Amino acid sequence: MTRFHDWKIIVTGGTRGIGRGIVEAFLKEGAFVVATYTKNDQEANLMKEQLAEFGNKLLLEKFDVSKSEEVKQFYQRLETRWDRLDVLVNNAGIKHDQVTALMTDDEWKQVMNINLDGTFFMSRTAIPLMMKNRFGRIIHISSVSGKSGLPGQTNYSATKAGQIAMAQVMAKEVGKKGITVNAVCPGFIETEMISYMNDEQKRATLAQIPVRRLGLPSDVANVVTFLSTRESAYITGTSIDVSGGLGA
Ligand code: NAP
Repeated sequence: MTRFHDWKIIVTGGTRGIGRGIVEAFLKEGAFVVATYTKNDQEANLMKEQLAEFGNKLLLEKFDVSKSEEVKQFYQRLETRWDRLDVLVNNAGIKHDQVTALMTDDEWKQVMNINLDGTFFMSRTAIPLMMKNRFGRIIHISSVSGKSGLPGQTNYSATKAGQIAMAQVMAKEVGKKGITVNAVCPGFIETEMISYMNDEQKRATLAQIPVRRLGLPSDVANVVTFLSTRESAYITGTSIDVSGGLGA
């Protein structure tokens, strides 16, 4: 028997990058997974095609995690299909880098809305669903930027630090109900989000990473699945770096 046989799992931003790696890891271990996204139908459809072997165990849901009403409607649809929720991975996130003095209101607000409001809206409804079965795992995909800021990321770092704080608070609120809440802090992971880097920037980045390679979505997925197991019941309110030693 696999670790997540027939478990019910939501991964926001699950159609690309790190989220997709997490979705695949859960599917391979027998879970039902909803992968959410917000606009890129092409990537979502490609994923559905490439993961056709998992049939109806993979569901795609298109909505914006930063919109409270859309999140509410998503959970209403979900409750007609699923009688429980075991794991929520708050992975959907964006960045709009700009030095503080030049950052626009929109650059600030969009990052706040998706990374922080989205994590809050998704968790708020997941918690009572998990309480019904006295079991649940909530994992926020934060970043090492939430622990030590990089220039140009005043908005992004604030949200990623916020997700770590939210894990600490939620863990204290729901610990006695069998629910754990943790944050995972990736370093540089090979996805669209870091595609802006030219060769020189990559070389400079690698020089700072003790294990001398960029991370893969599967590196993050390994930690997310570990935190999701029943055996991880005593790990809550903490954050784990997946950064190859960057920031250690
Ligand atoms: P990515 O490749 O850009 O994928 C982002 C995913 O989030 C996509 O599925 C996207 O959907 C979805 N998404 C974006 N805005 C959304 C919204 N408003 N509502 C619902 N879904 C939304 O990102 P990634 O690099 O995998 O990053 C995933 C998470 O890891 C983020 O929280 C990021 O901050 C964190 N992280 C990444 C790195 C890294 O090096 N890559 C490092 C540290 C932390 P569409 O396809 O429809 O746009």
